[in-house]
Order: sequence, then structure tokens, then C-alpha cells
Amino acid sequence: MQQRPRLVIGNWKMNGDLASNAALVASVVAGLATETDCQVAVCVPFPYLSQVAGRLTGSSIALGSQDVSEFERGAFTGEVSASMLHDFGCRYAIVGHSERRTWFGDTSERVALKAERAIGQGITPIACIGETLQEREQGRAEEIVAMQLDAVLERIGTKGIAASVLAYEPVWAIGTGKTAAPEEAQAMHASIRAHVAKHDAKVAAGLVILYGGSVKASNAGLLFGCADIDGGLIGGASLVADDFLGIVKAKTGTAAS
Ligand code: PEP
Repeated sequence: MQQRPRLVIGNWKMNGDLASNAALVASVVAGLATETDCQVAVCVPFPYLSQVAGRLTGSSIALGSQDVSEFERGAFTGEVSASMLHDFGCRYAIVGHSERRTWFGDTSERVALKAERAIGQGITPIACIGETLQEREQGRAEEIVAMQLDAVLERIGTKGIAASVLAYEPVWAIGTGKTAAPEEAQAMHASIRAHVAKHDAKVAAGLVILYGGSVKASNAGLLFGCADIDGGLIGGASLVADDFLGIVKAKTGTAAS
């Protein structure tokens, strides 16, 4: 069985200010000063990329953005290009977060273009896919996730997928306090990996697939202990240093109180 690295990524969403960011990053950096076999990154709002980049210098924590433009450059007011993110040292860019799909009209095709732009600048896209509660209740969860994945696969191919991270985030679990049961999440992760394996088994075996949706220190160990779950994309809990560190350091296969 292929060993994949554990990866935990914080998604700060539209939270923070100069003072609280400084305190949060300082605590997380200090908490990770000793060896951890987990790779860690924080995806921060665009205006704070420079501040956080500076404060992560010398640490093992990587920097990421929460989105990237599908366009290369030019008259696209309000957009931020992949090359700009590259200038600020971003290693990751979230694309297709369900909040962007819901509130800002990001279609799967647009998400695929964004992933392609990120890869073009050497930035790893974290492509988010996941079904709504209604879709799950209709028994369509796997079909919906496969459709979202196919849109990305069609654009960037398995070579692009090999340069990406996927995040399975059931929409009903994001920010709701409801976490998918480990078996439920594992089943979807296995199905995502099997879907990619139909195109390229080697790429599928090496693909890092994160789970996202109300992950906490108390449930992270059980989720991360599942065979096809390689870490987490963490929203709310990434805003509190102790909570985030508890997730990063969660012991595989155990439930903490
Ligand atoms: C997210 O924003 O990607 C997320 C998973 O949020 P939360 O952890 O708050 O559910």
C-alpha cells in the first residue's frame, strides 16, 4: 500500500485582522516547533498573504490562498491571478470551495480552469468536491462528486490531478458541527480514489484526499485513521490555535475527548 503524507490545511475564510492573525500564527508556529510528521498549511484572506508569509518564514508551515482567478491577467477587476499568488509564496490555492460554488457562482468548469491556472504557476490546487444534504438523501452523493471530479479531470487530466490535492467536503458538514461518520467519509474517499484509478492507478494511489466538514481534535484521529483519508481541510477550528494544533497532532485511529 502506498504511503501518503498526512496534510492538514486551515481555511481561515473571511476572518482575521492584523493583530489576531499575528497571535494565531505565532501560537501555531510555536506549537509545531517540535517534529510532527504532518504537513501543515494555512489558507488566509488575500490581503493578509504578505503578513502571514512573513510570520511563517523559517517554519515548516506553508501558505495558501482561498481562491485564484480563472484568468491569467488583465481587465478582471477584483480578481487575483495565480502569478500574484506565486509572488507572495503561496504553495496552495483552494478552488471550488462550496461557499464559492454557492455564493459566487463557481461552476465545476470554472473550478477546473482555476485549478489549471494554479498548476501553471507551480501552486497546488486544493480542489473541493462534495454533495449537498438533499443530494445525499436522494442517494446521489457519489454521482455528484464524480461529476464534479470529471469536470476537473477533463480539463487538467491525470497529470494535473497528480499535481493537485482533492478535498471531499460534504456541504452539509461544513460549519454545521455535523461531521460525516468515519465510515461514511472513508466510503466516499475510496470511491473518489477508485474513480481516478479508472484513468491512472498510480496517480490514484499517490493522490492526497482531504476530508473537510466540522473536523475537531476529538474526531480527527478517527477520520485520519481511515485508509483513504489523508488529512483535513479545517475551517472553524483553524481559527483557534489549540484546536488546530489538536487536529494536526491527533493520534491516528483514536477519538480524543
Ligand atoms: C471549510 O471551510 O472548508 C470547512 C471544512 O469548514 P468547517 O471545518 O468549519 O466545517
